[in-house]
This record gives sequence, structure tokens and C-alpha cells, in this order.
Amino acid sequence: MDNKKNVCIVGTGYVGMASAIGFAELGHRVTGYDIITERVRALQRGVTPYREAGIDEPLQRHLASGQIVFHEQLLPAVADADYIVIAVGTPAQVNGAADVSAVEAAVAACAALMKSHAVLVLRSTVPAGTTERLANEHGVSFVYAPEFLREGTAVGDFLNPDRVVVGATSPELAAGYADLLSSLERPVVVTSYRNAELIKAFSNAFLALKISFANEVANLCDALDADAQAVLYGVGTDRRIGKAFLAPGIGFGGPCFEKDVKALHHLAGQHGTRRELLAATLRVNDAQPRHIVDVLADELGGLAGKHIGIWGLAFKAGTDDVRDSLAVRIVDDLIARGALPVAFDPAINEPRPEVRCELASSALGALDGAHALLVLTEWPEFGEISPWAIATRLRGDVVVDGRNVLDPDAVAAAGLRYRGVGRKPASGIRLAAAS
Ligand code: NAD
Repeated sequence: MDNKKNVCIVGTGYVGMASAIGFAELGHRVTGYDIITERVRALQRGVTPYREAGIDEPLQRHLASGQIVFHEQLLPAVADADYIVIAVGTPAQVNGAADVSAVEAAVAACAALMKSHAVLVLRSTVPAGTTERLANEHGVSFVYAPEFLREGTAVGDFLNPDRVVVGATSPELAAGYADLLSSLERPVVVTSYRNAELIKAFSNAFLALKISFANEVANLCDALDADAQAVLYGVGTDRRIGKAFLAPGIGFGGPCFEKDVKALHHLAGQHGTRRELLAATLRVNDAQPRHIVDVLADELGGLAGKHIGIWGLAFKAGTDDVRDSLAVRIVDDLIARGALPVAFDPAINEPRPEVRCELASSALGALDGAHALLVLTEWPEFGEISPWAIATRLRGDVVVDGRNVLDPDAVAAAGLRYRGVGRKPASGIRLAAAS
């Protein structure tokens, strides 16, 4: 029996596009719709609205074969759909609660147009209780299937999940959705809507907690002259703990972790349950970018009038996404403290409204006349640039590596003063003593 289905994707952002390409790669026939018509028109020409590894080639291929078709109107996109996947944004509101208005609008629009046999699949991250409320309101078949992909490796993550989580009210509905992904041969966790919503939220909260934990470890290691990478490696090789996300740096940014932890914190507040860990995760993360700027100020003896070459603006490597990027927050802090940052990011060539500093056209170009280099995104290519070239271009000699991507010893050997996060040159050069 043909288990290839017609899958409609509503919302062609990071999750929507990874889902569209992922379902097409699995042989399903995909239609796509977005409320932004220019985005749809660009996608019809094979142009993605953002940089994401692994999207362009399969997109062109599936457009050419007709496996994926984008529509400017919702009706033709949902008309023949067996599954309608909703992947619209759920940003944080000022009080921390998730704004689910785009989800509500998309569900209402689809429920009015979908065929009676079709199933709505909500993939947006929503507060516990949302799917049940929407399913009751609209009386259509509903599944909650959270996405766990990471930007930068989105399609690969879609096609290689650790598990498929499905929240449903009947085993048949859950099995129907899981069947779309059966060729992936992954464990399927079938549970209630509410549990599935909480699995997604607490997964992100735990990863965020690990990052805040690693930053506390690193800051103490710095104070004790210990190497946080060695300490965290030793801690993380315990299988009960795990190495993933035990990485110190400038903190977690981007469109998910902060908003999802805030949304859970808000939800716990609404229900009067204790939420100290969630609050601490956010507090540590708020302090870390300021700490990095303090380190730089310390090294430079103040920031006013200092030219700072910045490497990286995207919230992580592999994407051009600057939503809630801590690099952008740090640039703002530098400007507020009187410094003069010039930034280079390999994925960002055009000015962006969020980025309030000058852009350089190359990594070394950002260093011309700069008193210091500050690394804010973990692009691997930064680690390949010769420290001697950095030393030649910099006016000063300070390198603050907020992502631990440079080789501390090589940087020190080039006559530069290196400060990482919980990490310093093995030669034991003490920066405080050297300044
Ligand atoms: P995004 O902002 O990149 O994309 C959302 C898209 O939905 C936009 O193109 C927008 O125009 C469109 N849209 C909004 N309202 C619409 C409507 N009524 N009809 C059709 N299209 C509409 O968002 P994203 O990063 O893909 O995130 C989507 C959801 O998935 C969020 O809830 C997010 O928390 C969750 N999520 C994101 C990631 C990630 O790494 N970005 C990972 C897992 C889960």
C-alpha cells in the first residue's frame, strides 16, 4: 500500500522548510504556504529566505520534480492535504508567556478549509494545554508533534531525530502521523497532547540549564586557574551526565531556548509551582554576556573609544539567524559603554535592523585598527585563521574568545593576550600579569 501522503506545510520558516524538505525526501508530496507572499514567491524560484546548510540543493531538486509546490493562497495548498503541518512562530511576550496568536490564526484558517479526513499537525512550540484547547475549539483531527531540530543542521536533524514524539488522543491518529516518518526507523514516543508539549519545553529547558551550568563551571575555573574544558569533559564523559551542551561561552541565544524557558517559567508561575531552576538558568544567561564584556573591559582598561573587531553575529554557526542573538546584545552593550565595534559574520553580508554596528567584509578586515578581537559566534573558519594574521591586523593585542574556537597556545605564541571562557594558554601566561 502507498504510504506516501499529501503533506501541506503552513509557515515556511526554519521548522517549516526543514519539514517540507524532510517530508519530500521521504517521498511525500508537499505543498507549502506562508502568510508572507514575497517569501512564497522567492521559494517558488528556489530562493530560501535565510541561510541554512543542506536546504538549497534538495529544494531545487524537489521544485524541479514537482514534489514540493509553494502556493500564495492557503486553499490550494491545503485542498488535497492528508496532513497539514503548522510551523508558525510562537515568540515570547513581554511577560514571558508565549504568543500563540499566529498558531491560533493558522489553525482557524486551516480548519475552515481542510478536508474532513485530513489531520492537523502542530509543530510549533506551545504552552501545555494549547493543543487540547485548539482541538476542542475547532473539532478537527489534531496531533501535536514537536520539532527538536537545530538551526544550521535543520534538515539533517529532521531526518535523523533521536525520537519522534507524538501527542494524540487516539492510537490511530498517532500511528498515522508516525507512519509518515516510519522509514526513519526511530523510536516513537506516543503520549497525550499535554505531555508532548511539556516534553518539548522541558527538553529545551534542560539543554539551556546545561549551558548555564557550564558557564558557572567556566567562571569558577577562570578564578581558580583551572581549565573548564578539561573539567567539563571529565564531567560529561559520565554517561549519566553526557557531554552535549556542556559548553561554556557567551550564553544561549537564538529564537528558542530563552523564549521556551521564559514560557515555562511563566506557566509555572501561573500554576504556583516552584521554578527556581528555570529562573536561575535565565539569570546566569543574562549575566554571561555582560561578564564577557567585563572581561574585555578589564583587558583594555576600559571600553570608551576602543575599536573592537567582532567575529560573529549569528546566534550560532551555520545560520544567519540573529533573533535573540547574544552577539547582537553584546554589540549593543559595547556601544552603550562607548566602544566602537566593527563586525564580520560569514553569513551576514547586508545590514540588518537588529545589528547596530558597522559590518566588515572579511574577518581580518574587521580587525583593522582594532584594539581587540572579540569572538562571538563559533564559526569553525575563525579557528582556521592564522593568529599571526590576527596579530598583524590588530592595533592592540587582546583576544577575547567568547566561544572558545581559537587555539589559545597559537594565539599566545603570536604575541597576543588570550582570554577564553574557562580557558587560557597552557604556557601559563597570566593575562592579569601581562597587562
Ligand atoms: P519562523 O519565524 O522562522 O517561521 C515562521 C513562519 O510562519 C514565518 O515564515 C511566518 O511568515 C509564517 N506565518 C506566521 N503566521 C502564519 C499564518 N497564519 N499562516 C501561514 N504562515 C504564517 O519560525 P521557526 O523558527 O521556524 O519556528 C516555528 C516554531 O517552531 C516556533 O514555535 C519555534 O519555537 C519552534 N521551533 C523552532 C526551532 C528553531 O530552531 N527555529 C526548533 C524547534 C522548534
